[in-house]
Amino acid sequence: MASWARPRARVGVRCWFPRIILMRSIINYVRTASLSGIVVVALFWSFPAVAEAQKSASTLYKDAQSAEKRLHQSKSSLAKKSVWTSVAKLYRKVVLDHPRSGYSDDALYYEAEIYLEIFRRFDDRAALIRALDSYLLLANGYPASRWARKARLSRGKFFLEPLSDRKSASIALRKVVSLWPNASEAAEARRLLDNLSRPKPAASESFPKGVVGVRNIRHWSGSKREYTRVVIDLDKDVKYRQGQLENPNRIYFDLIGTRVTKALASKSFPVEGDFLKRIRVGQNKPGVVRVVLDFKRISEYNVFWLPDPYRLVVDISGRKPRPKTLVAEKTPRPAAPSRTTPTPRTTPTPGTDDTAALKLPPAPTRDGFSTARQLGLSVGRVLIDPGHGGHDPGTQSNRLQEKHLVLDISKRVAKLLEKDNFEVMMTRRSDVFIPLEERTAIANSKGADLFVSIHVNASRNSRPRGTETYFLNLTNDPDAAEVAARENATTTRRLSELNDLLQKVMNNSKITESRELATHVQNSMAGDLFSSPRDSRNRGVKKAPFYVLLGAQMPAVLVEVAYLSNRKDEALLASVAYRQKIAKSIAKGIRNYHETLGRTTTVTAPNARVGAPQ
Ligand SMILES: [Zn+2]
Repeated sequence: MASWARPRARVGVRCWFPRIILMRSIINYVRTASLSGIVVVALFWSFPAVAEAQKSASTLYKDAQSAEKRLHQSKSSLAKKSVWTSVAKLYRKVVLDHPRSGYSDDALYYEAEIYLEIFRRFDDRAALIRALDSYLLLANGYPASRWARKARLSRGKFFLEPLSDRKSASIALRKVVSLWPNASEAAEARRLLDNLSRPKPAASESFPKGVVGVRNIRHWSGSKREYTRVVIDLDKDVKYRQGQLENPNRIYFDLIGTRVTKALASKSFPVEGDFLKRIRVGQNKPGVVRVVLDFKRISEYNVFWLPDPYRLVVDISGRKPRPKTLVAEKTPRPAAPSRTTPTPRTTPTPGTDDTAALKLPPAPTRDGFSTARQLGLSVGRVLIDPGHGGHDPGTQSNRLQEKHLVLDISKRVAKLLEKDNFEVMMTRRSDVFIPLEERTAIANSKGADLFVSIHVNASRNSRPRGTETYFLNLTNDPDAAEVAARENATTTRRLSELNDLLQKVMNNSKITESRELATHVQNSMAGDLFSSPRDSRNRGVKKAPFYVLLGAQMPAVLVEVAYLSNRKDEALLASVAYRQKIAKSIAKGIRNYHETLGRTTTVTAPNARVGAPQ
């Protein structure tokens, strides 16, 4: 437990089940529990001493919190299982004496956490069973509690591991999916269920407890760009050391507490391209697997990890980015434009027909001119990424699945852009699953100039509707974090754990350009789909840490086109005409962004809106 500080219980009107049901749950539990010690304890708790004057729920809850605080402040108490158990009992007392109070669900949640800690510290499996029961009591007795989802998801996870009870895990996880289909917990539950339903590969070797398996190495290299992404798949997160050695040139990663599978042991993967030669993996010494990347020349590499399932991602670039001083000499950085006096673009001389070739100067971004603009880079190759696919349906309603909707919209966007002479690639053109880290790897290795990931949104609440466009960044907005957690198939908590890491990775990413691209796409969608830009369905440009955008070497955005959890949006998404309308507006947004980069292009004069205030 990282901290003993507990948030205050939320007290107020809530959905509650009368004490009789709670008691029945306890009695049921007692019937099924095979551990006699727990039975005795549970029975004892069911009949509190009558003589004792009853304290209020808030007093009892505070008693439990203070006891827990004292426990965490005393080293000797921390080492005593009996002290931990006594704190758990104090939380349970809140529930038994005041089952209808707003404190009871919080008390059950913290009681469960105490038992989990007993399980971890004292390797006490009976305590784990107790924790799972507290979760069940909480979820059944207080279905409207803010803890109910977490409680059910946790049950599923602990049944999976360490209890290896696949049947109970499956029941618990399916309950999460059916009760809260659009919550991030449901996304995680689906992923776990999916792993459950897949037969274990024959090569899946089991290791002794405490030894983490290094299962697989995947890599993508590009001929268009000197880039390789290497992904190391592990059973769990581990500590690792990294270093660089010469003669021959190589970087290595030592994964601590790991063992390599027989299939992978002493394997070597040749890598196409000029700068990285091959990837080797082997058991360096007992408990340490070493992954070595042999290279000819290398300019930089970036390492980060992704959870659920745990994988270490190494991005390697061959060519050095052009130094900034050189750029400054060639094209001096213009002064940042004032917002009140927008820089007008040159007014075109219309051609004889309604099509004229225009040379547009680069339009400044909000932060002045970004590197892409200074270098006069253009957008030729666009990678469209339809979200999800295969065993990952994304969000779903009774009749529609995100994976099918976004594939359809993406294909339409691709067709429209191809008509405009863009070179378009797609991460998938059929209903197949592609891991998030592979999608970015495709974008980088194929040398895409833009990356656009297309998704359908969902909310626990059925009211929100409309579109929003994201670029990669950290966020304080809980709604944005919720969207990212769902798309990442992880939890918001995991997401916040990653913040420091993301900060490092994002220093290298094209945030300014990505925001600009997001703005163009969002404005275009808002203009085409809604009657007014002030329509509440125009949810604007937002930022959040999406794994699929992490490490992208080009402007990259993620579009949430509409809400499948809203009935009106769902009806719109079901219509081919509306999906075409969405596709048109996205393609137009990409085209508009492209035009601001200022390269010679053919623009239809009546639509060019040249010289309009920006
Ligand atoms: Zn999605």
